[in-house]
Amino acid sequence: MKKTKIIATLGPASDNPKTIRRLVERGADIFRINSSHTDGPGIRRLVRMVRSVAKKMALPIGVLVDLQGPKIRVGEFAGGEMRMAGEHSVTLKVTKKPSDGSFIPVQYEGFYDDVVVGGRILLDDGKIGLEVVSKNRGVVKARVINGGVLLNKKGINLPDSSITAPPITETDLENLQTGLEEGVDFVALSFVSKAEDILQIKSVIKKNEKLTWVVAKIERHEAVKNLDSIVDASDAVMIARGDLGVELPLSTVPVIQIKIIHKCHEKAKPVIVATQMMESMISNPRPSRSDVSDVSGAVHAYADALMLSGETSTGAYPVECVAEMSSISLEMENYQSSQTAVRYWEMRRRVPDQAEAIAKAGVSLGELLNVKGIVVVTKSGFMVKQMCTLHPTLPVYAFTPHEITMRQLAIVRGVFPFCLKFKKEFSFSLPAMLRHLKQQGFLKKGDRVVIVAGVKAGNLDGTNTVRVETVL
Ligand code: PGA
Ligand code: MN
Repeated sequence: MKKTKIIATLGPASDNPKTIRRLVERGADIFRINSSHTDGPGIRRLVRMVRSVAKKMALPIGVLVDLQGPKIRVGEFAGGEMRMAGEHSVTLKVTKKPSDGSFIPVQYEGFYDDVVVGGRILLDDGKIGLEVVSKNRGVVKARVINGGVLLNKKGINLPDSSITAPPITETDLENLQTGLEEGVDFVALSFVSKAEDILQIKSVIKKNEKLTWVVAKIERHEAVKNLDSIVDASDAVMIARGDLGVELPLSTVPVIQIKIIHKCHEKAKPVIVATQMMESMISNPRPSRSDVSDVSGAVHAYADALMLSGETSTGAYPVECVAEMSSISLEMENYQSSQTAVRYWEMRRRVPDQAEAIAKAGVSLGELLNVKGIVVVTKSGFMVKQMCTLHPTLPVYAFTPHEITMRQLAIVRGVFPFCLKFKKEFSFSLPAMLRHLKQQGFLKKGDRVVIVAGVKAGNLDGTNTVRVETVL
């Protein structure tokens, strides 16, 4: 079974129960609902659809609602588009009304104040590039660097400015509320620039008394600068290479990807690599060599999860794409398991706290004895994250009393999550866990496992026990 998790974005190519089921069968672990392309009722419908398929399949499938955040966009043209050629000049104005084609309408109020003279304005993922020449009385004049045809509602990036738009819009708050009401497992926030953006979402979650995990999408130059505090504030992190590659020089994105992955390993936070991982399969039944290498490279770097966007939402081969991604992952994971790895933690120097030390002891003991797996008993999933950031070659079986935690752990590399109500005394719960793993075919009689837990089920926050057990 593969270790690396797959997040599949839903869209017209996949948002029906039959395709969702086939995607799960081929290796999808989590479904992403992109709020840029749907509304409240749409979110509800999709969450319920995934839940009903997952229930029938009896599998821990996660649901992630992706909030748009302060994405700034072009407005509309009466003619649907505007053509602009290199070296010509264009004007931009903030307005909600459609443009007659003589100027670029911008929907973001703060645009005029935020742009800087001499700075770049990138349109439609950077396909069109402008340079600001002057600002005067609400009108921005710019020179066209790369021309092209600009269509309605395309995105705008200002890589040389700091956007002052509020990090969470009214629409985001409505979609967040809908997601929380539907009990989604993750919400992702786009265009995060600082830790406070994440904390703001967390306070809404707390007010609603939910345990939802917050995923920070790193796609702004400010976020790269504030990486440390953002990773600390988040439950998981997404390397959103689409916008990141517009905000920063594209050549720097692979290095930033490696740095973010390392930072997340250091802080024991799950990390997702996103965008154009299997782009070639949007219209082809077989992937390009470069896509295969990209996916394989992310697995080699121990990313927890890989995300598919257009590939599964609008592409022609969503199911084939997930299957292909699974087999690429498996191939690299098998190679990694066959290597006598230099353990990641040996390269770390800081003094570990109790949780980290126990995680290391559990993984080392399991690998020295070559047991069949590591059973981690956890309430919030914290201990599992500690464990998995050490990249154990053994499978990790996680038991939690909360269904939502079970589904959240679906994002962590190498984890098989289960939900089981704990007995008061841990010694009563343990046989039930091992029986469960035996019944599901993960273990058989005589197999040894390492258990990592708090000795009393009521005291799991203080994980204090590592022990070896044999399956009866
Ligand atoms: P998006 O985010 O697909 O919501 O834009 C991912 C990215 O920018 O890579
Ligand atoms: Mn993005």
